[in-house]
Amino acid sequence: MQRQGRTRARRKRSPAADLPQNASKTIDSETIEPIEISLPKNMTVNQLATQMDSDPVDVIKELIRNGIMANINQLIDYETASLVAGELGFTVIAQTTDEGKSIDILEQIESDDPDKQVVRPPIVTIMGHVDHGKTTLLDAIRQTNVTGGEVGGITQKIGAYQVDYEGKTITFLDTPGHEAFTAMRSRGAKVTDIAVLVVAADDGVMPQTLEAIDHAKVAEVPILVAINKIDVPDANPDHVKTQLVERGLVIEEWGGEVIAVPLSAITHDGISDLLENIILVAEISEFKADPDRLAVGVILEARVDKNRGPLATVLVQTGTLQIGQTVVVGGTWGRVKALIGDSGVRLDKIGPSTPAEILGLDQVPDAGETLVVVPNDKVAKDIIRKRQRFMQDGQQMFSGTTLEEASMRLNVGASTDLSLVVKTDMQGSVDAVVDTLEKVVAQDRKVNIVHAGVGTINESDVLLAETSNSVIIGFNTRVEPGARRLALSKRLDVRLYDIIYRLSEDVQKALDGLLTPDLVEIVEGHGEIRVVFSVGRRTKIAGSYVTSGRVSRNAKVRVLRNGELIYEGLISSLKHFKDDVREMTTGFECGIGIEGFNDFEVGDVIESIRLEEAN
Ligand code: GDP
Repeated sequence: MQRQGRTRARRKRSPAADLPQNASKTIDSETIEPIEISLPKNMTVNQLATQMDSDPVDVIKELIRNGIMANINQLIDYETASLVAGELGFTVIAQTTDEGKSIDILEQIESDDPDKQVVRPPIVTIMGHVDHGKTTLLDAIRQTNVTGGEVGGITQKIGAYQVDYEGKTITFLDTPGHEAFTAMRSRGAKVTDIAVLVVAADDGVMPQTLEAIDHAKVAEVPILVAINKIDVPDANPDHVKTQLVERGLVIEEWGGEVIAVPLSAITHDGISDLLENIILVAEISEFKADPDRLAVGVILEARVDKNRGPLATVLVQTGTLQIGQTVVVGGTWGRVKALIGDSGVRLDKIGPSTPAEILGLDQVPDAGETLVVVPNDKVAKDIIRKRQRFMQDGQQMFSGTTLEEASMRLNVGASTDLSLVVKTDMQGSVDAVVDTLEKVVAQDRKVNIVHAGVGTINESDVLLAETSNSVIIGFNTRVEPGARRLALSKRLDVRLYDIIYRLSEDVQKALDGLLTPDLVEIVEGHGEIRVVFSVGRRTKIAGSYVTSGRVSRNAKVRVLRNGELIYEGLISSLKHFKDDVREMTTGFECGIGIEGFNDFEVGDVIESIRLEEAN
């Protein structure tokens, strides 16, 4: 796909002989008129450049000017593309309805008709510090109030359950903790309406309590506090309340808005109070959905059952899901053969906020993926094919933020805050670092500390940074290996400092809009690994077939597996048979070695990247 020659597109571009096919012209050489083009609903940066016969670098630069950091394979929508095309001297006259270019049915999911929406049960996640009683509380609620108590059903854990309290239903997610909550959100699934924050009355506010508060705040989910373990002799609920106030959660009885319910998950004291208050918060918030439309839901858990095949728990978000319907979930699909509720009973259909295990999927989907009902099997297969092609092309959205990109966004006025997730080695240094950072300002721009805590940088920090568009700052601390991998795959910036002055200097520069990326990445081609062979004892070589563009020696490369980024590094050797070569182009086979990486698998895609000066 990569164009060889270059025609630099300029803001006032003179018409060339090689006009795009659907461009309408008639321009005299003196007055330059805009060239008219039509664009699809979505396209990659490269496709837009090709359409305008412009250099992708110019398109990327124009996007950056508009505050959008994009790589050449990134998808941009019609509005964004029109904006950039306009800047480059084109007039977009129509949106083409090229179905083939629309890569995801998620865009086609209609939103609910407000007139048809009715109140649905609230979906609740329990969060809090380890050992404060989250699991015990979930079990206690479940024991006392499982819906209906259907006969014959064996209650089973499917990832969520519903309870009835005084004629009202509440849905609880069975995976406690903010990590699961934010992992779902980072996949784009908003599955929680209310967060119940469990704080043990004998232990008080702890690091994970604070994390949970910050995660809930970023998600803009109302928080209800359960002060647990009031049965233990040294329980001190008032102390918990004071600590919460210090963290900005002012309890209702002290004039604030946060409801706190003292309870014991062991004696069950106060549990009905908690349920009553959840219903109260739900009534105020009015969570609604349209039960009469085709269902959209989210996968909470999935596994393979050796007798029944792939099993997944779906939580319906809107609409009604029925047996016999065809559904698409991520890269798989199926016809709904059975729906099994949280009490083990088979159901014919399930409505909004209801969880059930679903039988009939072709493969095991991933948690967090969206389930959508489609009209028939053919549509389902079409969608799956398109999605697979999309994955193979290695085209993916990177949502990551680097400090440079954040700086650029501030510079072009796309944001006024620089969001940071801060981790340090000890409490004293958290306060010092936060203090220093909060003093850094520039014009009307400021630092927004989304979370500050003590310890190593973990996966939960990375997910929080992703969902809040933050840069992660570590001071005198390190990154856990899992978190490093996750940050890499999401292209998130983790910056480590040990000198506070350096940190504040960088943040100041970022706020001033002075930190700008020096280099822009241009994807110049892809190779697919067909065979992996060994050279010597340790080194592995990827026998690859160049599927697009070129792969060059000394290039920066990314290794993609099923569309996910697993490694980023430099090519160490590039050979055609026995010869060292400088580059290999489409249709050729070559052996690729990558510095520091040997974990190749057949089917992986190697993306070759050229770096260019941004200015
Ligand atoms: P989680 O890590 O937050 O899920 O905490 P668990 O639910 O596993 O509870 C940790 C420990 O606290 C267990 O030993 C529980 O039995 C105990 N526990 C939980 N809730 C209560 C309570 O209300 N009172 C007392 N005395 N112990 C509790």
